[in-house]
Amino acid sequence: MKPIQVNGRSYQAPAQPTVIVCIDGCEQEYVNLAVQAGAAPFFASLLARGTVLTADCVMPSFTNPNNLSIVTGAPPSVHGICGNYFLDTERGEEVLMNDARYLRAPTVLAALADTGAKVAVVTAKDKLRALLGHGLRGICFSAEHADQASLQTHGIADVLARVGLPKPSVYSADLSEFVFAAGVMLMRTERPDLMYLSTTDYVQHKHAPGTPQANAFYALMDRYLGELDALGAVIGITADHGMNAKTDAMGRPQVSFLQDLLDDRLGDGRTRVLLPITDPYVVHHGALGSYATVYVRPGTPVHAVAEVLRGLPHVERVLDRETAAARFELPPDRIGDLVVLAHRLAVLGTSARRHDLSGLTVPLRSHGGLSEQAVPLLFNRPLADVPTRRLRNFDVLSLALNHLSPRT
Ligand code: ZN
Ligand code: ZN
Repeated sequence: MKPIQVNGRSYQAPAQPTVIVCIDGCEQEYVNLAVQAGAAPFFASLLARGTVLTADCVMPSFTNPNNLSIVTGAPPSVHGICGNYFLDTERGEEVLMNDARYLRAPTVLAALADTGAKVAVVTAKDKLRALLGHGLRGICFSAEHADQASLQTHGIADVLARVGLPKPSVYSADLSEFVFAAGVMLMRTERPDLMYLSTTDYVQHKHAPGTPQANAFYALMDRYLGELDALGAVIGITADHGMNAKTDAMGRPQVSFLQDLLDDRLGDGRTRVLLPITDPYVVHHGALGSYATVYVRPGTPVHAVAEVLRGLPHVERVLDRETAAARFELPPDRIGDLVVLAHRLAVLGTSARRHDLSGLTVPLRSHGGLSEQAVPLLFNRPLADVPTRRLRNFDVLSLALNHLSPRT
């Protein structure tokens, strides 16, 4: 079959069942230390028989922009999803970008399904399902709402019974386990040509690399990946972003509450700070990440706001709209007047009163900045002709489908 063209890139149809896995919040140290602890034999095997690379995720280093980049093979400037939230300036309100109407590009998954390939998608949280499954004729469901999947709307029914696990809690490692267990079940019973599995970073937000809890989670994923491998699947693994501690020497969160600070310096109502990490599930990070956008009210000079921001604690970089859009391949109409990045060990908030940190039972770990851009890019097969340019997590589909070594 001749290759398909999606968003300016060419993709061969899968020659063997191919599984793309996005491990949410997979800082490379998690894999490294789990392998060193002997907890991850499948991952350990990849160096000798597969391909081990490092790639950069897209900015902001958040879940939705990166999952959409992976399935479209393109940056947010093409697909339009640059956070969980953006400010709809016409309506003057913050709107969730979970809806597929905000998606500006087709997915490779849908395009392959249109050629007759059997495609399946399993996500941990339901918030990603509508976006990942947009236009897809195939199987697409979330672990979170696995009990609601029906043949008509999700391409599959009786998911809980078929997977053989109870419906998992949204705040648990079980949510990600369900994704993998469903993937193995689908590979056994449906044998999709292409399958996309996307987990949640609940464990990584709580536990640092190499801790017993983190190693146990990677051991669990390793077992399921080993099963998919044994079933003959080509497996490509990457992450939506990394994860870092965002704390001081005593484990206290290092936060700059930008709205409070800007109101204090410039007067109330001159700016509006928006955090695209905000989503309905914030208990484990208090909606705090290392990336913020600032909308400046007419009459206030943008460069003056930028100057104030550059002088604030924990602020690493302040970029105006055009610079941020060009540098980070972002849609300029959805990022505000300024983009603000925090240092590796710090996060940005709006107003202190708007962040409930009572759910933080362990020292804060989060993402969003440049410091969480490096992610693993792993394959269980040798690849030929790997490009020598900067690799991105959204190259994973192209590498898995177009660069399999002839020896395999
Ligand atoms: Zn994520
Ligand atoms: Zn996260």
